[in-house]
Amino acid sequence: MRAAVLRGGRMVYRDDVPDPVPGPGQVLVAVRSCGICGSDLHFAAHGDEVVAMTERVSAGAGGMDVDLGRDVFMGHEFSAEVLEAGPDTETHPAGTLVTSIPVVLSGKGVEPIVYSNSTIGGYAERMLLSAPLLLPVPNGLDFRHASLTEPMAVGLHAVNKSNIAPGETALVLGCGPIGIAIIAALAARGVESVVASDFSPKRRELATAMGAHRALDPAQGSPFDTVKPAVVFEAVGVPGIIDDVLLRARPGTRLVVAGVCMQPDTVHPFFAIAKEINVQFVLAYSPEEFADSLRALAEGDIDVTPLITGEVGLDGVGAAFDDLADPERHCKILVTP
Ligand SMILES: [Zn+2]
Repeated sequence: MRAAVLRGGRMVYRDDVPDPVPGPGQVLVAVRSCGICGSDLHFAAHGDEVVAMTERVSAGAGGMDVDLGRDVFMGHEFSAEVLEAGPDTETHPAGTLVTSIPVVLSGKGVEPIVYSNSTIGGYAERMLLSAPLLLPVPNGLDFRHASLTEPMAVGLHAVNKSNIAPGETALVLGCGPIGIAIIAALAARGVESVVASDFSPKRRELATAMGAHRALDPAQGSPFDTVKPAVVFEAVGVPGIIDDVLLRARPGTRLVVAGVCMQPDTVHPFFAIAKEINVQFVLAYSPEEFADSLRALAEGDIDVTPLITGEVGLDGVGAAFDDLADPERHCKILVTP
């Protein structure tokens, strides 16, 4: 079958990947749509660092079992159609549109569908999912939109972790896909004052389309000169941002760090101590939040149409990875095999 794989830092098209065979509890599905995630771009460029950092943080608990010298399968934001179930496995009828949290259960345990030499992800014609984890896509939600359940769940989780009340002001720093997902979740929650900040005019426009009430250009001055937020969401992920927030935020601010900074970063604890700032780092989402995210899309509480800026086939994934570097042109590119 056809797939796009990471080989030597580039996404390469293949038409000779063996079809996966579903085992007990597994379901063979045909991928309908898979979003390209910023973490995939980062892994393509800096996979060795990601593997090394994961190794360190997991402290001997296994780390990340991936060999960058071999082809790597990726793609964790997908919707798919049920084809057939493995032995002794009950599932939805063939043709049902589904999505799932990106893990598959096998004899080896829980395998993440993220970066793997063997577990096929969403940049492929077909892949394996686990029957008990399948969520049928309700309300006739478009398969392209359904594939964005995963990135939107990341935003929902960050917002849930913040415990923000509707009357509090939120400031979202960075309007890439994570910042945009946070903005959408804040708007869906009914937060009355959502302020976004990004250098890119296109991204500020997108932030407004997704529910931000104001979008500021940080080149014109610190957003903290304009707003006094109760909750700050950091979705940039570069060194220096956290310290700047600690310096400028008002006492009692809650800072939610959703940006993924892979470099060491320096902070002045005294800035945070002096103002009793709460810092919460966040990652991913719970299975319940994933299901809530699908529901929000299917019920129209969140419309992801403005996010989708491109669509490519499996042979276009390499070029799409390059194109996503330009924030003026792209937010989400979908791979539709
Ligand atoms: Zn992702």
